[in-house]
Amino acid sequence: MTVTNTKFKNNKTCTICGKDYISKKTPKPEAWGGGFWIVEIPQCTCEADIDVKNKSEIRAKEEADYKRKILQEKFKNAQIPPIYFGLELNSDYFTDIRKDEPKAFAEMQWWSDSFRPETAKGIIIVGDIGRSKSSIIGAIANNIIKKGYNCLFTTFGDLLDDFASAAKNDASINKLLYWLCEFDCIILDDLGHETYNTSKRMELAFRIVDTLFKNKKCVLVTAQKDKIEALKGNRSLDMLRDRLHTMCPHSYFFEGLSYRRKK
Ligand SMILES: [Zn+2]
Repeated sequence: MTVTNTKFKNNKTCTICGKDYISKKTPKPEAWGGGFWIVEIPQCTCEADIDVKNKSEIRAKEEADYKRKILQEKFKNAQIPPIYFGLELNSDYFTDIRKDEPKAFAEMQWWSDSFRPETAKGIIIVGDIGRSKSSIIGAIANNIIKKGYNCLFTTFGDLLDDFASAAKNDASINKLLYWLCEFDCIILDDLGHETYNTSKRMELAFRIVDTLFKNKKCVLVTAQKDKIEALKGNRSLDMLRDRLHTMCPHSYFFEGLSYRRKK
């Protein structure tokens, strides 16, 4: 058989750049019936490039879907009350408090934007009813979760209830403490609203706060002035307050009428 391996011009062109393909005539083995194969070879990389582009687009979409799923999971785990869903510090919702507390507000905005769990020090906002304390903390939580951190939004009362029902068993308390310390930021909303009807409950409250303290956890606390004042006179509660103040060097006091009443 004569070996022909000739290239010749073909009518086929690249659909993207219009460059002509070159066809190559290669012999077919006798066992396969002999004759020739015509192989068409593009003279550009357009189609190969598109293939790479499509593949990387598919990969990017998969990555985005995965990130979105993780984020949904983080928001679910955070247990943020639905009234704070989607709330952002720069939204109109905070116009009044931004005007009344410009320094505190700017500091918290900066805090939220530059949050890193290894270095962030806690915030405590004490104030009158309806001064947007919880909404601000909710908006901060939304922001840091969007950055990929894990946050828990709870009241100290709810947390204490969970611990109290596990209190019969030390192993389950340790498990709860471990779960709590997995979060990058822990929000204790409305501190002082919880009841301390037993000394066991006070001990438990101190143990929770002490664990967060020893693990250098970032804690955000809101409280009404009179409620936090009431956490006094008992050794466990005094120590608890003391720990919280150490953990939350960013301390703000919002005084004034309720924005809710004004609206
Ligand atoms: Zn081309």
